[in-house]
Amino acid sequence: MEFVSKPPSVRGPAEWFTGHVWFDQIVPTDGRAVGRCNVVHFAPGARTAWHRHANGQLLHVTEGVGLTQSRGGEVIVIRPGDSVWCPPGEWHWHGASPDHFMTHLAIWDGLTPGQDGLETEWGEHVTDDEYGRRPA
Ligand code: MN
Repeated sequence: MEFVSKPPSVRGPAEWFTGHVWFDQIVPTDGRAVGRCNVVHFAPGARTAWHRHANGQLLHVTEGVGLTQSRGGEVIVIRPGDSVWCPPGEWHWHGASPDHFMTHLAIWDGLTPGQDGLETEWGEHVTDDEYGRRPA
């Protein structure tokens, strides 16, 4: 048993996110595990771009109030304790609500141990119009 070194927090790149997003990688990408887990912090109004995961992704909300949507579906409010599963290949986005921070765990499988990012395909940003279609 050993402590695992903690890499610096990463700012979510502007090509993949709208607004202020920071995440911490919990599972090291040194090849010892194929499972991936990030703690992701979204400032109010911040969200991912549209994207999809080759192996699907589980989101588990730990703080705040968030929103998520699959392509063609309704915008859903997600709250602390909620877990949502996005199936493999399904286009979706996730983020904070307009007035609250949101933190979630993102848990998914990579393609092979030590390879990071290749399992996620990124698309266009979520427009203000799309984001504004949130439930009342
Ligand atoms: Mn996702």
